[in-house]
Amino acid sequence: MFVSRDAAILHADLDAFFASVEQRDDPALRGRPVAVGSWVVMAASYEAKAFGVQGGMGGAEARRRCPGLVVVPPRWPAYVEASRAVFDVFRRTSPVVEGLSIDEAFLDVNGMARSAGSPTEIALRLRWDVRDRAGLPITVGVATTKSLAKIASALAKPEGLMVVPPECEITLLHGLRVERLWGVGPATAARLHAHGITRVGQIAALDEGDLVAILGRAGGRHLHAIAHNRDPRPVRPRRRRRSFGAQSALGRRPRSAEAVDATLIGLADRLTRRMRAAGRTGRTVVLRLRFADYSAATRSRTLPHGTSSSGPVLAAARALLAEAAPTVAARGLTLVGITVANLDGESDGGQLELPLGDATGDRLDAALDTVRDRFGPTAVTRASLAGRDPGLAAHMLPGDRGRHGRGPSRAGDG
Ligand SMILES: [Mg+2]
Repeated sequence: MFVSRDAAILHADLDAFFASVEQRDDPALRGRPVAVGSWVVMAASYEAKAFGVQGGMGGAEARRRCPGLVVVPPRWPAYVEASRAVFDVFRRTSPVVEGLSIDEAFLDVNGMARSAGSPTEIALRLRWDVRDRAGLPITVGVATTKSLAKIASALAKPEGLMVVPPECEITLLHGLRVERLWGVGPATAARLHAHGITRVGQIAALDEGDLVAILGRAGGRHLHAIAHNRDPRPVRPRRRRRSFGAQSALGRRPRSAEAVDATLIGLADRLTRRMRAAGRTGRTVVLRLRFADYSAATRSRTLPHGTSSSGPVLAAARALLAEAAPTVAARGLTLVGITVANLDGESDGGQLELPLGDATGDRLDAALDTVRDRFGPTAVTRASLAGRDPGLAAHMLPGDRGRHGRGPSRAGDG
């Protein structure tokens, strides 16, 4: 007995998004190798990729590989506007859209054959509409699962369409290099390679237990499932959330003020990063404290403007903690949390509302997020940050750890 299922999950991903926006808006850049971002490449046009220029690469290395490279500074407002136009097309295409980042989304088109045509027809029209209304190239992968749809779009780039018929999925999947799997970053790939595993088919041939022994329980199970194209995750429109929070238990032993401050820095960094990824800003910063006697306290402060920048959130949290200093000293702090509420902005990745008020801090945060999301946490190293802005480098450090292993957001580099 077999279950028949249509390939009706679309993964739509703009090609070389920032660079394409630059080429769209400046005809002189069309057909030329373009890199966005000077000290580190945030996006490279396909003409630049042909020379080996990649996102996450240092600017000097990029210029060495491609002497004719045209380097332009990022224009966040233009990218936000372009993303908005593209997500409008996504939402007109299907009622079920899950934004993954500023330039990619899953769309579920199951059951739309009557009203809108086959998934292939819908995907073709989607590409046309994005070209027509936003002036940008986009690639679409279509499969029965999210993970394979995402792989298909990566294989079809740029300006491509790949529809994987259900009966061909396993053959396609098993021939791929393990790096193609959604969630397999450099570290996981290296571990698999160390065991002689380079192809997805080799993963599929292993028992789940063997894979768990290599990758740990969560990673092993996940990869085992997706190597068999078992990915039951539905396309899920993100619900609109009302706050973003992060907290950290400190344990019962006393902590120095420096240690608590380092925790605050890490929390502010982590939660504002999630806010930026979701395109939300917030005005009210809430500090939550729990004490060794199990009592708790909450203090809040409302900022004059909404922000998703770690600087202002951290400053508010520090001020609130300073106000609570006598209580902290008397009772002993066991948990600290920061929540940002009073949100504005839209709800999913497509509606990225980059805060443009506090220009340098926000833009740097956003730039770093972009590079890390796309090219992995090591793309921007502490060393390369340290020389540029000691303050920034310092406040990036604690959050670094929490950023590893965010497989789902690590896009290919289209
Ligand atoms: Mg993309």
